[in-house]
Amino acid sequence: MGALKGKSAVVTGSTSGIGLGIARALAAEGAKVRLNGFGDAAEFARLSKEFAGHDGADMTDPGAIAGMIARAERELGSVDILVNNAGIQHVAPVEEFPVDKWYAVLSVNLSSSFHTIKAALPGMRERGWGRIINVASTHGLVASTGKAAYVAAKHGLIGLTKVVGLETAGTQITCNAICPGWVLTPLVQKQIDALASKENLSADAAREALLKEKQPSGEFATPEQIGALAVFLCSPAAAQIRGAALTVDGGWTAQ
Ligand code: NAD
Repeated sequence: MGALKGKSAVVTGSTSGIGLGIARALAAEGAKVRLNGFGDAAEFARLSKEFAGHDGADMTDPGAIAGMIARAERELGSVDILVNNAGIQHVAPVEEFPVDKWYAVLSVNLSSSFHTIKAALPGMRERGWGRIINVASTHGLVASTGKAAYVAAKHGLIGLTKVVGLETAGTQITCNAICPGWVLTPLVQKQIDALASKENLSADAAREALLKEKQPSGEFATPEQIGALAVFLCSPAAAQIRGAALTVDGGWTAQ
C-alpha cells in the first residue's frame, strides 16, 4: 500500500469498466488520479470524491487532449503515469463497415494515445520518471471477424507501444500495453446483448457462448486484475519491461 504516493496519473476512459478498475487500483496505492470519460454528472460528483477530479476531454479531439494533459500537469503538479484506456467498438463486415465508424474507432482507440503521449512525455522526461500503459486487447495480437477498425486500431496501438518503448529505453520511463481478453464491461455487454438477440439466447447462455468461442478459461478477466497489472507495471520490479504486450486473456491467444 502507498507504493505510488507522490505520483499523479491520468487514466483516459476511466468513468466505467476497465479504466475505472485501473484508476481505483492506482488510487489505492496512493496516486492522485484524474479521471476522463463520458457519463452523467451525478456519477462524476460521486467519483470526484474518490479521485483527483474528472476531465471531460473528448478523445477524438487532439486540442482537447493536449488541454487535458496541460490541466492535469498544472492542477496535480505532474502526469507521472499515463493510462490510455478509452475505447469504443463497432462490429460489421468490412464491406459494410460505415466509414464514420472506421474513423471514430481509430480516433478513440489509437490516435488519442499518440496525442496523450506526445503531450505527457516531455514532462516525464524533465522529471526523469514515467509510466505509460496502453490498454490494447487480444485484438492487438490476433483478429476476429467483424472488427476491422478495432483490430486495426489495437494492432496499431501495440506498434505505437513498441516505438515509445524504444524511444524511452535509455530513461526511467517505460511504455507497455495490456491486452485483456473478455472483461464483463458495458462495451462487452453490448456484444452479449447482440449475440442473445441474433441467436435467440438467454442472457446467461449468450455470456457463456461468447466466452466459449474465444476464452479457454471460461471466465471473464476482471477490471481489478487489469488494475493490479497496471500497478505492477508502475513498480520498480517492472522497470525493464519495455515495449511489451502483456495478455490477461484466460488463454485466448495461447491457442
Ligand atoms: P467501457 O465502455 O466500459 O469504457 C470505455 C470508456 O471510454 C468509458 O469511460 C467511456 O466514457 C470512454 N470513452 C469512450 N469514448 C470516449 C471519447 N471519445 N472520449 C473520452 N472517453 C471516451 O469499456 P471497457 O470494456 O472498460 O474498455 C476499456 C478499454 O479496454 C478499451 O480500450 C477497450 O478496447 C479495452 N478492452 C476491453 C475488453 C473487454 O472485454 N471489455 C477487452 C480488451 C480490451
